[in-house]
Amino acid sequence: MKNSELLDLPNKNRIDVWNHIIATIESYITTVHHSRVTPELDPDKIRNYLRSIDFNDPITSRDAIDFVVKGLWDHQVHTPHPRYFGLFNPCPTTMGIAADTLVATFNPQLAAWSHSPFANEIEQHLIRKIGQQFGYDRAEGMFTSGGTEANLTALLTALTYHFPEILKKGIRGLTTQPIFYSSFESHHSLIRAARTCGLGSDAIRLIPVNQSQQMDIVFLRNQIKKDKEANFSPFLVVATAGTTNAGIVDPIKKIADITKDENIWYHVDAAWGGAAVFVPEFRYILEGIERADSITFDAHKWLSVPMGAGIYLTPHSDILYRTFGMSTDYMPTEGIGLDVKDPYMHSFQWSRRFIGLKVFLSLLVAGWEGYQAVIKHQVEMGNFLRQKLEETGWRVVNKTNLPVVCFINEKQLQMNKTLFIKKLVGAVLSSGQAWISSTKLNKEPVLRVCITNYRTTKEDVLVLIDILDNARAKVKRENF
Ligand SMILES: *Cc1c(COP(=O)(O)O)cnc(C)c1O
Repeated sequence: MKNSELLDLPNKNRIDVWNHIIATIESYITTVHHSRVTPELDPDKIRNYLRSIDFNDPITSRDAIDFVVKGLWDHQVHTPHPRYFGLFNPCPTTMGIAADTLVATFNPQLAAWSHSPFANEIEQHLIRKIGQQFGYDRAEGMFTSGGTEANLTALLTALTYHFPEILKKGIRGLTTQPIFYSSFESHHSLIRAARTCGLGSDAIRLIPVNQSQQMDIVFLRNQIKKDKEANFSPFLVVATAGTTNAGIVDPIKKIADITKDENIWYHVDAAWGGAAVFVPEFRYILEGIERADSITFDAHKWLSVPMGAGIYLTPHSDILYRTFGMSTDYMPTEGIGLDVKDPYMHSFQWSRRFIGLKVFLSLLVAGWEGYQAVIKHQVEMGNFLRQKLEETGWRVVNKTNLPVVCFINEKQLQMNKTLFIKKLVGAVLSSGQAWISSTKLNKEPVLRVCITNYRTTKEDVLVLIDILDNARAKVKRENF
């Protein structure tokens, strides 16, 4: 083989690779629901498997693909499985898989507009369209690696807005301590964002939640007052629209009022729950979100595109440029003077992957209506699950209209709650038939099930109910 053909395989091999990949994708998609959802966790087994190959001894393209496909089949939680009742990791859309394949092929570099005008315009088109769904007349924004980067972007833009001098002098150039607020149930990415931008985790006030696990807004107002009196500088409040733990939506409108009164940047982390705005009947759940100064939304959650599709949205037209704008001698300048945006001047990333295509193609084929149907179906499955749980001796303990269900055993068992929950989750996972998790609400351990997958049907919910019954009986047997 010629040197170049080792990377760019000869035509005949290449066709064989593509065909083999297509067959592999189709087989995974059509049979994953027959497999176990959960893998056994055995690092030695995986490392031994890896030791069986050697980069000094290359293998054929087909063998290489088969090696990896077997490893993936055997050693992962199959999040596309309809009984993965998990942490917002959906079954990827067909068009999303197709899009990522095209992206890898054309490999557009989105850092500068002039390198890939079409891809950049698709992303900005989506930002405007999705922004409109959230109620922004003309949204600005950027695709991000995920909600974590979008939340970090929110923190940075809020800092830039309130303390423009930090762009040069940094946090230590300030004479006051910036403080921001989110609820005790908010996502931990905010704490890491605080560390990343040099504020430190002491700069975040985790506001307690009320009985419904929503941010306690009386507490919030008092805390802001106290902080101002102590000469701190409150600059940002983050509301969560759909907490990871329990799908709880903070009082979005009331927090909007507080932030406007206090002149504080208002960010809404709607990474998962934001999808509710796409369904007219559910829009009320996020009422007031259009008053936010910025929003985090993850298309790789409820829009079910393959991972890595966060979005940061804002109605402030110049804040991203003020935060990230700079110039270099080597970046292309052809876009300058045109009415266009260079992403490298409006975001944290430099080399930039075409994240938006999987959202664009999925939306283009499903349409808003298709997504509305899917979201409604998942909400219905959540309601069905709640009903079945209550009928079979469980008690639902979180109040949300979104399909995250937290529950405990109706009757207090003669054993420690934490231990019961741990053993119950262990029994479900080791059955291999479903993936669920546990968490804490109001400091109490609870079970957590999320209708994460658009393929999940009533049958799957009923199977889960059986699995839970069996697991509970098993844990009881083993302890009495
Ligand atoms: C998932 C999630 C995040 C983090 O997003 P990633 O895409 O996983 O980085 C932040 N906030 C909320 C509410 C989330 O659900």
